[in-house]
Amino acid sequence: MSQADRQLAPFGQISADLVVVGAGVAGLWTALKALRAGLSVVLVEKDAVGAGASGGFMGALMPHMPERWDGKKQFQFDALCALEEEAARLEVETGLPVHYRRVGRLTPLVSLRQRGQAEARVEAANSVWSDRFAYNLPAAEAYAEWLDVEQAPLGVVFDDLSARISPVHLLAALKAALYAHASFQLVEGEAAGIDAKAGSLKLAEATQISFGNLVIAAGLGAFPLIEGLTGSPAGALGNPVKGQAALFEADELPAAANELPVIFADGVYVIAHGDGTLAVGATSETEFSEPFSTDEKLDSVIEKARALSPAMRNARLIRRWAGLRPRPAGRDPMLGEIPDSPGVFAIAGGYKITFGIAHHMADAVLASLGATGGPDIPVSFAVGAHIAKSRSRAS
Ligand SMILES: Cc1cc2nc3c(=O)[nH]c(=O)nc-3n(C[C@H](O)[C@H](O)[C@H](O)COP(=O)(O)OP(=O)(O)OC[C@H]3O[C@@H](n4cnc5c(N)ncnc54)[C@H](O)[C@@H]3O)c2cc1C
Repeated sequence: MSQADRQLAPFGQISADLVVVGAGVAGLWTALKALRAGLSVVLVEKDAVGAGASGGFMGALMPHMPERWDGKKQFQFDALCALEEEAARLEVETGLPVHYRRVGRLTPLVSLRQRGQAEARVEAANSVWSDRFAYNLPAAEAYAEWLDVEQAPLGVVFDDLSARISPVHLLAALKAALYAHASFQLVEGEAAGIDAKAGSLKLAEATQISFGNLVIAAGLGAFPLIEGLTGSPAGALGNPVKGQAALFEADELPAAANELPVIFADGVYVIAHGDGTLAVGATSETEFSEPFSTDEKLDSVIEKARALSPAMRNARLIRRWAGLRPRPAGRDPMLGEIPDSPGVFAIAGGYKITFGIAHHMADAVLASLGATGGPDIPVSFAVGAHIAKSRSRAS
């Protein structure tokens, strides 16, 4: 049966042009962009908006390194460029701030190898970042109130492409924007089985929802749903990586607090958000017994952050948080139609960069189902490519 031939709501219950599974940042952008394109949308969420990895507070928007440029890096670059306007539009639509700002990224250099790498990247960035953004090696002293110069014995690198956004505020604005559309419905329930041929989604409590198209944007929950459709084991498609982070309130921030670059040093981020909070993170743990609790690994990240930034020295802890990032086994995000499941798409596995690309992934999927124009899907992102890779790893 073609998608056009499908009869919506054959079960006399809920139906929509597009059903989106998962109300994290990927699902919320997908739902909103589909509504803007004139589709009716049902968003299915088993818990609450932001219940998954998107419910944290980091929101660093970092580019890939400029060397060995490829389709995947270009896709992310285009997404990062587009986000400024996307954020501004959302703020106008909702009247809610999302605290997006292209503040850049500051990385202290601690070895000659790092310094050499940074110098090489200046050239590489010039050639691939369209002359709009650059890598620079400014004097560390210029940032002394924000980054302790003693932490940067060989100077600093600054790129002016990186940005930050507040996940908490972004999710609130996306949610508000969805509810402004009459053809939007949020359904609480756990997607348990997808029948692509019939255009029907079964929820765990037996409710059926019929769809014209369906997008799986369920974070970690995407992998078992894709297994149900393709037979590829969920564990071979992707796995959780635990991350711990902490949120602080600072008594005193340097002047121009809204312009402070994201500090990134040896896996530790310090982000000065537009609401005056400082976010610090994050661990990357592939082995853990308590997925949602914090421990001494976070203490060590906090200690490093306090050493990095004078503004962190007396900052007060507001919240500790742990979540599970969905990491696809093939590393690249998983995007596009599921093989042999016409009308069923995936937006999953953005891992550490989802906040910078979710809006663009949504555009790509909506374009491939014919609802809007949008970017092409990089070959390595295609769900079929992920499945083929997982099979070759297994054999
Ligand atoms: C500590 C930490 C720091 C991070 N820092 C950054 C950062 O600085 N920048 C960045 O870009 N990214 C960062 N990330 C990663 C980012 O948070 C995630 O990649 C992103 O939130 C994933 O979004 P998502 O919408 O794909 O999934 P999720 O946010 O996990 O959303 C999936 C949703 O689907 C729901 N769901 C699952 N299964 C089902 C089902 N069967 N039926 C119905 N609903 C279902 C879940 O309840 C959840 O609400 C960080 C992550 C962590 C943990």
